[in-house]
Amino acid sequence: MADLLSLAEAQRLILARARPLPAETVALEHAAGRVLAESARAEIDLPPFSSSAMDGYAVRAADTPGRLRIDTRIAAGKPAGAALEPGQAMGIATGGVVPDGADAVVPIEYVVEHDNEIEIDVAVESGDNVRPRGGDIQAGESVVEPGSVLTPARLGALGAAGVPQVRCARRPRAAVLPTGTELRRPGEALAAGEIYEANGLILSAQLEAAGAVVELMQAVGDDEVAHRGALEHALSADVVVTSGGVSVGPHDLVRRVEAELGVEEIFWRVSVKPGKPIAFGIRERTLVFGLPGNPVSALVGFVLFVEPAIRALQGVPEPLPQFDRGRVAGGRRRNLERDEFVRARLRRSPDGPVLEPLSGQESHMIARSAGADALVLVPRGEGELADGAPVEYLRLG
Ligand code: AMP
Ligand code: MG
Repeated sequence: MADLLSLAEAQRLILARARPLPAETVALEHAAGRVLAESARAEIDLPPFSSSAMDGYAVRAADTPGRLRIDTRIAAGKPAGAALEPGQAMGIATGGVVPDGADAVVPIEYVVEHDNEIEIDVAVESGDNVRPRGGDIQAGESVVEPGSVLTPARLGALGAAGVPQVRCARRPRAAVLPTGTELRRPGEALAAGEIYEANGLILSAQLEAAGAVVELMQAVGDDEVAHRGALEHALSADVVVTSGGVSVGPHDLVRRVEAELGVEEIFWRVSVKPGKPIAFGIRERTLVFGLPGNPVSALVGFVLFVEPAIRALQGVPEPLPQFDRGRVAGGRRRNLERDEFVRARLRRSPDGPVLEPLSGQESHMIARSAGADALVLVPRGEGELADGAPVEYLRLG
């Protein structure tokens, strides 16, 4: 098995072919979770005018302490009108425009008001409780950098800076095709030898969470004609993800039919467990992933191979999954040839994250995997990881 491709090499071969899709214009209200393709610049200074941070009185700091005559009251959303004259104060609300001539705001709690006058006991400093124009960002500055995912805070920043729309890579269109004559939908009756279809659900949900627009196709039986028709349709997408039919059995048709349809195979089989028989190919710009049929293999194969591609197609600069560090509970024998991804429960302890491998690590055991929060990497090699050994892990969404 020395000839098996390493995980890192397989990921490199995929990412070399996953270039960002063309950008499109997206209205801000539809841009949550999208990836910015071009930097977005502030349309205005933010705040756009010098404004009050408190409900209180706009004053000249030099007039305090002292008694000041109240000239007018400024509401939020309205300009002050006249400038503040020496000896005057203007009532002002939070967010109100600080009038020319004023350089500070005295909070309402600090003054005594009577007969249209206020009395201020303390000396306020110039700039107190005033939010200067452009103090957050200035017109023309970049609000969000290309490659950033548009989080709620970033969307808020863009909106506040007056940006109505952004340029984002088009969302990848993904077709999901489960294969296997034995597959039935949940809700249907099972005949002898049949099982319920799980991979289509797993992969569609993972693809959507990664930002793809998904078409979940009906499972095809292990029949060349059915495969050809379904795959030809699927190949019009940016990304095709099949499950099953990539091993060495006589019913494993996916790679052969794809080759007939013009898919150039880039690799088949990677030294990971579960998920070894993964196939990856391309047809023009379409990326074609053949994940093995066991549901845990499909789940893990998606995280390691498909998700990075989906992120790269959207322009994420570092699309590979990011490992966290913790300690494994209980010893664990390593696999000689393959990097193993062990399903585990994640527990927080005062000494950091502890990963408790679940019992039942076989790749058909999707129900056991449902209790997992993490995939722990057990690197291939001799010997075993001791109880408490440091490990790297991936969070499962
Ligand atoms: P295959 O890779 O086609 O040989 O499938 C390997 C195992 O995964 C077999 O036991 C299949 O029945 C099972 N399997 C394949 N596809 C699915 C699916 N979509 N949902 C659940 N199990 C599947
Ligand atoms: Mg099969």
